[in-house]
Amino acid sequence: MINVTRSSMPEFEEYTEEIKKLWDTKWLTNRGAIHRELEEKLKNYLGVENISLFTNGHLALETILDGLDLKGEVITTPFTFASTTQAIVRCGLTPVFCDINEDDFTIDINKIESLITDKTCAILPVHVYGNICNIEEIQKIADKYGLKVVYDAAHAFGIKYRGKGIGNFGEASMFSFHATKVFNTIEGGAVCYHDKNLGIKMERLKNFGIVDEDHIDEIGGNAKMNEFQAAMGVCNLRHVDNEIEKRKHVVQRYRERLENQKGIKLSPVQADVIPNYSYFPVLFDEEVLGYTRDNIRDALKEQGINARKYFYPLTNEIPNYSEHFKIQDTPIAYKISRQVLTLPLYADLSLKDVDRICDIILSYHN
Ligand SMILES: *Cc1c(COP(=O)(O)O)cnc(C)c1O
Repeated sequence: MINVTRSSMPEFEEYTEEIKKLWDTKWLTNRGAIHRELEEKLKNYLGVENISLFTNGHLALETILDGLDLKGEVITTPFTFASTTQAIVRCGLTPVFCDINEDDFTIDINKIESLITDKTCAILPVHVYGNICNIEEIQKIADKYGLKVVYDAAHAFGIKYRGKGIGNFGEASMFSFHATKVFNTIEGGAVCYHDKNLGIKMERLKNFGIVDEDHIDEIGGNAKMNEFQAAMGVCNLRHVDNEIEKRKHVVQRYRERLENQKGIKLSPVQADVIPNYSYFPVLFDEEVLGYTRDNIRDALKEQGINARKYFYPLTNEIPNYSEHFKIQDTPIAYKISRQVLTLPLYADLSLKDVDRICDIILSYHN
């Protein structure tokens, strides 16, 4: 069985060595020593000034929206994991769905301005699959209308844009360290941000609003990262460059085999970006091919290969939201969600298995 992804893990002994000290300190969470160590190491690795760690990426995103005290409408895209839209709604905000680009699936900057109203407070674009949004143009629009920009960078760990860590753009960026992501802390996440006051507020929000022994100043919840998560992070961070390098070889092989096939489209390589090879989405155009994305998904499944329909359904068609939004308003996202299949990709996926996957796809193709 080949799954769409497989979690990166250190050697068992490397992890147990890391957590052993917890049996001495008996300090398991609430900014423990390993948590602080991971924070410093991540700041350095991601090339950011400020970082705050969370128990998962989703709560990290909610905490940004909460911490910025946003009210009203947030412009975002429906071609993403459910979390992005759910975070907006759970924070009492209204999502407004903008369509995406055909090639890189990020927010279409030419369609943002027509969605801005006097209720708009923020833009929440997604660096989907690690494809980087048009950062400069998004910031220009935000500046023109006085909006905050918050990035869902769940897929973008370690990516550099024009030499800068991707966590440096906008008001704040959320990274996910979920088990399935390029870098994991089992479950986990982080926010990179600029404003120190936002940082202080988020630290309180993720710990019940507690300021100190005598003061509770925010309506906070609990979103803290624990020491076992942080220890997994410290270990995985030692190997992440190597993992990304191995992913690169997998992606190169996929590209060699699947490029320039009629009706099959790959995501473009982006200029000025050092990528992390987090996902390998492929579009199957039924009108050219005479077969569907689902046919390929099924053909792979029969051979024990689990490719996934990321991202289908769109978040504006999930039942809680579909009464309020029309998928017709985001036609490109709609089309892509029907064509896309995300192929298996992880560091230890052998090139032999990549060839087998491509053989199945190409034999169906021809
Ligand atoms: C994984 C993911 C999240 C949520 O992160 P968790 O760490 O799983 O809570 C949010 N947005 C996107 C696009 C994701 O892929």
